[in-house]
Amino acid sequence: MVSPVVYFTLKDLAQSNPPQTSAAACVRSCVLSVCVPGHVCADFSFVVVFDHRVFVNRSLTLENIKCYGFDMDYTMAMYKSPDYESLGFELIRDRMVSVGYPHELLRYTYDPSFPTRGLVIDTTYGNLLKVDSNGNILICSHGFSFLKGEDIQAYYPNKFIQRGNTDRYYILNTLFNLSETYLYTCLVDFFTRCTRYTNLPTGYQHGDLFMSYRSMFQDLSDKTSEILNKCPLQPNLTVLLNRIKEVAKVFLATNSDYNYTEAIMKYLLESNIKPKKSWRSFFDLVVVDTRKPLFFAEGTVLRQVDTDTGKLRIGTYTGDLAHGTVYSGGSSDIVCDLLKVKGMDILYVGDHIFGDILKSKKRQGWKTFLVVPELTKELQVWEDKKNLFEELKHLDIFLADLYKHMDSGSKECPDISTIQMRMNVLTYRMDMSYGQMGSLLRSGSRQTLFASQLMRYADLYSSTCLNLLHYPFNYLFIAPPVLVSPLYAARGDVSKLS
Ligand SMILES: [Mg+2]
Repeated sequence: MVSPVVYFTLKDLAQSNPPQTSAAACVRSCVLSVCVPGHVCADFSFVVVFDHRVFVNRSLTLENIKCYGFDMDYTMAMYKSPDYESLGFELIRDRMVSVGYPHELLRYTYDPSFPTRGLVIDTTYGNLLKVDSNGNILICSHGFSFLKGEDIQAYYPNKFIQRGNTDRYYILNTLFNLSETYLYTCLVDFFTRCTRYTNLPTGYQHGDLFMSYRSMFQDLSDKTSEILNKCPLQPNLTVLLNRIKEVAKVFLATNSDYNYTEAIMKYLLESNIKPKKSWRSFFDLVVVDTRKPLFFAEGTVLRQVDTDTGKLRIGTYTGDLAHGTVYSGGSSDIVCDLLKVKGMDILYVGDHIFGDILKSKKRQGWKTFLVVPELTKELQVWEDKKNLFEELKHLDIFLADLYKHMDSGSKECPDISTIQMRMNVLTYRMDMSYGQMGSLLRSGSRQTLFASQLMRYADLYSSTCLNLLHYPFNYLFIAPPVLVSPLYAARGDVSKLS
């Protein structure tokens, strides 16, 4: 027997919508043992499990979508900063110790305030350098000691490096490099200060053992790539992009620069995937440095990126779309022109409520899909604490009925204050279940600013864009017919009564 599919909207989560029709309640109890009020979709062909669901604010027919756009950071690539870098640091540090580096290194912990992207490691002298676009040294540190003019000149007489010498100089271009940068600094700091080791210009001596800065860097790089390769890939991402390409155009529009985008997308779309093909071939158009939200208004100059050097070509690009080409800047209007699609035919998938979703919807009328990773936890708490939600909902209705029936002047009725106290306790217990700051979407029966913006500007939303894979690409997402907020329209916002 085929099972019906049930969808819930954020309105349900945020507002505890009124009780369902008996049919909806019946279907819900057959499919999901949850107390969340929901509505029934017309499609009775399959079930989407709780975690994989795409939620609907406004009805949308995927069949009408001619073009899918994706943001990259935290949409296609999921990571959390500085937690991600901190975890990376600890994993690489522990791995270094496990292959024989001193145990004292375990005392170092990641400090996000130290490294920045774009620093250069001089693998000959073990220095960390900050240089300008021509290779002039701006800052030089050896471990955590910052060197002054003369000391810098002792290493680099012209206070200049040949950046092109990639055998010697390693440029830390991506956020992934932050852990690596900091750990290399810790290594240099430790060996320089540890009395067991003798400092030499290009490394350290310990008995008859010499360890060069270069070999230390090599060990670090090896361990870093081992750790990076253990980070969860999203193999379904290539499946999703391939499926979309069968039915629509696909573009990537990211605020990140080319070098970073190249590193991340290569990792996401080319690692351990056979047959091997370039990450760029998954897209009809790739635009970096988009400067969203400006991208959705006047935008910036569109330029081509030289994918060999990562540098921008001079002049504004005015030609037709060239496949395999990466562009920098531009605007949403230019994207529509290049891809020959209208804004209303685009579904843009992003994680930033303002930069990705609000502006693309408000200024360009694009269809929008917001990625809300927190939904996984929100739904989990909702499921785990359904008894609290259910009790609060019943008290909510009971209180409203009491107000409706009580005679004027009887506001001191003890039942009401007891109920309100119980509701406060329940609300507090619910909020604490999410964390110290409570839920992303609601506090008791009141919705957050985030929830209200999400409902207003995101047509669809889900914990990950990969959840689109659980629906056919001709799917009709149906929003429930809600007349503003019937719960509060009918009974008033009871939270304001307390
Ligand atoms: Mg993003």
